[in-house]
Amino acid sequence: MKFHAKAQRRKENRKPFSLRLPLRLCAFARNYFSTIWAFIIFLCACIPTAQANTPTRVTISIPTPNEIRVEAELSSPTRSWSFRNAYAGVLGIAERVEDFHAISAAGQDAQAKKSAAGEFRSELDAIKITYTVKLSEPRATDVPYVSWLADDRGLLMFADLIPQDIETLSVEFKLPTGWTLESSLIADATGRYAVSEPQKSVFLAGRSLRKTSNTLDGVVLDVVLSGAWPFKEAEALKVVSTVLQKYLELTGFKLTDKTAIMIAPSPTPIGDGNLGWKAETRGSTVVLLANPKKFDFWRNRLTIVFSHEMLHLWVPNSLKLEGDYDWFFEGFTMYTAIRTAQELGVIDFKEMLNTLGRVYDVYMSHPDEQSLIAASEARWTNPHSQVFIKGMLVAFLYDLKIRKESGVKLTLADRYRELFSRRVAANANGNEAIIAVLDSAPAMSGFAKSYVENSTKLELEQVLPAYGLTLDSSGKKSQLRVSRDLTAEQQQLLRSLGYRN
Ligand SMILES: [Zn+2]
Repeated sequence: MKFHAKAQRRKENRKPFSLRLPLRLCAFARNYFSTIWAFIIFLCACIPTAQANTPTRVTISIPTPNEIRVEAELSSPTRSWSFRNAYAGVLGIAERVEDFHAISAAGQDAQAKKSAAGEFRSELDAIKITYTVKLSEPRATDVPYVSWLADDRGLLMFADLIPQDIETLSVEFKLPTGWTLESSLIADATGRYAVSEPQKSVFLAGRSLRKTSNTLDGVVLDVVLSGAWPFKEAEALKVVSTVLQKYLELTGFKLTDKTAIMIAPSPTPIGDGNLGWKAETRGSTVVLLANPKKFDFWRNRLTIVFSHEMLHLWVPNSLKLEGDYDWFFEGFTMYTAIRTAQELGVIDFKEMLNTLGRVYDVYMSHPDEQSLIAASEARWTNPHSQVFIKGMLVAFLYDLKIRKESGVKLTLADRYRELFSRRVAANANGNEAIIAVLDSAPAMSGFAKSYVENSTKLELEQVLPAYGLTLDSSGKKSQLRVSRDLTAEQQQLLRSLGYRN
């Protein structure tokens, strides 16, 4: 497993009343082709929510297979525009913006000039801007986090296509003949989309898109396929619906917006032998990119990818919490996702222990000198950030302890429901709110404070025997196993986690 070493966060222009949600690094993807649970890496990201105002009228067209053209009629006269130039670990995105022009109310050229990457200024007030964005040949490191066009399809992410100054917009698309468009948003009768959060908007455009839909507990779910996959859209919908149902039960919270799951061929190879995949959850959209010709064991793979990604629709995307709490929304998501994959029968108890053993080896191979909160804040500057790995192991320990202390009447899963049922104030501090929920369970007081707020190191060899597990670190790889002589309580605890001996 490796981590992005040079990821940086772009300094955002903070606007009054805007919510700032952190960019998220998602370090949990799996290759399922030969060895189960081999790690590769992928990235998900979550970005700011903008304040509503008069919408800008935008037209997006695709004049050539390489670029999109954008025309925006601005809601008020403007002299400067700023495009996102960095997104999570991806830098220089705004360099793709070209041929930028600004036009005044009198129809004059407002003499816009580029002052830096993605930064444009004009001499006169402008009421209209036009520009192109070169979207062909996306870099392997950039997908699925930026817009691209390739092979009769394109992923259009407004976070990098629309100036960040534009907070709400009404958009129409002029697509090549035979292309259609899918999104978590719904077009009006004239075909325009009202976009209230451009930074979270994702559109998949292309030829021969196939869509199928389902409604679960009032939550509308679309699955959109582009390209020739070894499964039909109805089969993908079945997998995705099962995962969605799991997380509706886990959180007790109904997603308010339509969820769109988009599955498309990656425009660039991913992983060794092009056998990997990458996924991104943004707003209400989950995008999965992979090579359809090498997507074997598709049911298992889809379950594994979506067990992780779809939890992000809730955590953090449905939590209006402030601050960097990556240890929870990635680390705890990693643990909850493998528990979900196990409950859905994709992996068994032994494979779960093997995975956790490997994760512990990664943890032990780097120094652990920061609290999880400090590590969450500093993950972009620390190439050996332990935040996800340690977060995942802390979630495992939490689950073991709460099950033991409650005689398996309570689990970590119950804390998710508690988190979503509490009336946590919008913009509350994420770390404080989540630590309060975790530590509020009987006999769990001080646990999150110790492992999250303080920099308590993990020593699984010492801690696990109390739960009927042993960690053998004598070999090249740590082996996490069930102890030989289990007490009745330990047996009950491990059986509640899927142990079947
Ligand atoms: Zn993630």
